Amino acid sequence: MDQKQAETISVIVPCYNEEQVLPLLYQELKRVFASLPAVKGEFLFIDDGSRDHTLALLRSLHARDRRCRYLSFSRNFGKEAAMYAGLEHATGEYCVIMDADLQHPPALLPEMYRVVKCEGYDCCAGVRQDRAGEGRLRRLLTGGYYRVLGKLCRMDVQPGAGDFRLMRRTVAQALLACPERDRYLKGLFQFVGFETKYIPFTGGARAAGQSKWGIPDLWRYALDAIFSCSTAPVGLIGTVGTVLTVLGGLGVLWQLLLDGDSLAPLLVWIGGIQLLALGLLGQYLVRDYRESRGRPHYILKAWDKDMQ
Ligand code: UDP
Ligand code: MG
Repeated sequence: MDQKQAETISVIVPCYNEEQVLPLLYQELKRVFASLPAVKGEFLFIDDGSRDHTLALLRSLHARDRRCRYLSFSRNFGKEAAMYAGLEHATGEYCVIMDADLQHPPALLPEMYRVVKCEGYDCCAGVRQDRAGEGRLRRLLTGGYYRVLGKLCRMDVQPGAGDFRLMRRTVAQALLACPERDRYLKGLFQFVGFETKYIPFTGGARAAGQSKWGIPDLWRYALDAIFSCSTAPVGLIGTVGTVLTVLGGLGVLWQLLLDGDSLAPLLVWIGGIQLLALGLLGQYLVRDYRESRGRPHYILKAWDKDMQ
């Protein structure tokens, strides 16, 4: 096929201190794209303020193979920022986000591409089957956390499905149309909609280097996720306030009728009113928060202009 007409898959790889693993990843990407002759590859590495030789390595990859492009941040901005930058600068008709450490196997790309290209899906997400190389505590926390997140955010969270997804440009465009600073891509995938097929994969342990996420980072990430896709905690304050106000008020009436001298119902009532007031204020904050995120009112998947 004429390479000019060939479709391009942009592989977006956030990299933070990945000098040990990048050569392996590049070899693997080269091998996989050699088996996809009808498709062009664009390997877009985002150096997220690495302190090792990641940037030097990316420069040499670019010099050697023009399919390799790179962006380098002035400091460590985090994986979410790196993924955003990658989506913004990718030029392919398809984008796929993957980790640098080969835990997201490039060998899955042909199947993901086939699913999106031939089965009519907009997005194909890898669902990790094993959590090898991760401690028991981390696996336990991850499992519980996704259950809570699903409930709080009323999201259909697919356990094991992360950022490893191949998507059409329309989906990437929709993600970029959500301009919020505190980003949580897994939640945004839910927000933007589109048809997603989930396919299983085994990730195994990191090919080389070390995980960048300790328990404190994961905790921060978990809170980011909840606050960026749920306002349920504010609603909870209002609900608790209402219940305490009603119960406390009834208690105060009861005391008056019985000529009682217990102060407890009065304290509950006052506490309840204060929580209720906070809950009410919170509702304005929630609305302001949604407004300031500036998300689109709707996202189109198709319109009749496509037919002309
Ligand atoms: N990463 C990043 N910025 C960070 C932390 C991580 O770009 O601040 C990248 C990292 O280089 C890797 C991916 O995000 O490509 C996943 O990181 P890691 O493998 O350390 O996470 P884990 O697999 O342990 O969850
Ligand atoms: Mg990893």
